[in-house]
Amino acid sequence: MPGYDPQNIFAKILRGELPCHKVYENDKVLAFLDIMPRAPGHTLVLPKAPARNLLDIAPDDLAAVMHASQTIAKAAMSVFHADGITIQQFNEGAGGQVVFHLHVHVIPRKAGVAMKPPASEKERPDVLSDQALKLAAALTRV
Ligand code: AMP
Repeated sequence: MPGYDPQNIFAKILRGELPCHKVYENDKVLAFLDIMPRAPGHTLVLPKAPARNLLDIAPDDLAAVMHASQTIAKAAMSVFHADGITIQQFNEGAGGQVVFHLHVHVIPRKAGVAMKPPASEKERPDVLSDQALKLAAALTRV
């Protein structure tokens, strides 16, 4: 497996070199909205540590990412009036990974509504800003 590339796009977001629609942050984790959501509220949860994917992340960083994913999933259920949550996490190109900094997809789902295909449509920035504010506000209450 190749090593961690510090020039990947999520590393740049973590360093503040590129913007994101942040929903949550603690000392080990950053979470922000996917710019090409597969459903409204599609959130990405990342370790701050430089891990390429599940195959090289330290167990305590993985635990922090999964803990935050659970917290965000619970908040997203009410904010997005969801009926369920899909969790996805891809490893290496063969596993469907496109950006090589580990991230967990938290995707709110409505009964009977299919997810959009991956990376099919960019959401409007004002829509993402509004959703991020609502989800971040709900996360301060959990
Ligand atoms: P994957 O590596 O297959 O899990 O896919 C990477 C995900 O990152 C896709 O869902 C993209 O829509 C998303 N993505 C790519 N660039 C950005 C960005 N700058 N901000 C937020 N999400 C992004």
